[in-house]
Amino acid sequence: MGEETLASESSARAPLPGRATPCRAQAVSLPGEVASRRAPVVSEGLDNLGADGAPARLGIMGGTFDPIHIGHLACAEQVREAYGLDAVVFIPAGSPVFKRDRDVTPADERLAMCRLATESNPAFDVSAMEIKRGGDTYTVDTLRELRAHYPDNVELVFITGADAVAKIFRWHESEAVAGLARFVAVTRPGYTLDDEMRATFEKSSFTVDFLEVTGLSVSSSDLRRRVSEGKSIRYLTMSRVRDYICEHGLYRKER
Ligand code: ATP
Ligand code: MG
Repeated sequence: MGEETLASESSARAPLPGRATPCRAQAVSLPGEVASRRAPVVSEGLDNLGADGAPARLGIMGGTFDPIHIGHLACAEQVREAYGLDAVVFIPAGSPVFKRDRDVTPADERLAMCRLATESNPAFDVSAMEIKRGGDTYTVDTLRELRAHYPDNVELVFITGADAVAKIFRWHESEAVAGLARFVAVTRPGYTLDDEMRATFEKSSFTVDFLEVTGLSVSSSDLRRRVSEGKSIRYLTMSRVRDYICEHGLYRKER
């Protein structure tokens, strides 16, 4: 998800303040609750978020993550910090509609890399919900699923880069998307996030906050290209992801 475009809801709602409360990544366990054996809706760690009735904020990081890299991780972490998010869930797109022009790495491999990349951050989790859903991946379906799953005290905050937010009005059922979450658009080197764009969002039904994050001019395309050319991707992603790419022979020309 997120690939398709990005959005939020804005002027109708108060701005998202950063919260002083410490970040709480762990799922809230209800007293006496027996561990569920059912497949999780979002993820095992996050399915009970907000179940205690306390206000909670869930950051949603959508993307193809082919592969996940430090740009994704750093921007999720900085939005988490700035907006006092309780957790950020990375949701790799099953079949991204905006990436039909190239072969996308199988979903299970992109999912595995997301898990490896995020496991050291207790505030991060990964959901296979878009992959499990099958068919074309639309953010509106994911947000509807999230909204139906979580109680109203859980606020959904969709995180998107400057390139992706610019396409938000082209998203499938974009008007519906606008009503389902707030959006935080982060800066990304090479893409514009300016007053003109801000004005466009203000006139729309989306609520989009802009956040300047540490500029990292890294992209999955660049990582794929580097691997295919036999170049190093050290430091551009987590070392476990790099090892996975190497062990599974991803992005090599002969694959
Ligand atoms: P590709 O080059 O294959 O398009 P990508 O690096 O753009 O990959 P995506 O999976 O397409 O990664 O992006 C997922 C989300 O992360 C999008 O909202 C995108 O804008 C954001 N994002 C990706 N890289 C960065 C970065 N370096 N800085 C800020 N945001 C980023
Ligand atoms: Mg991209």
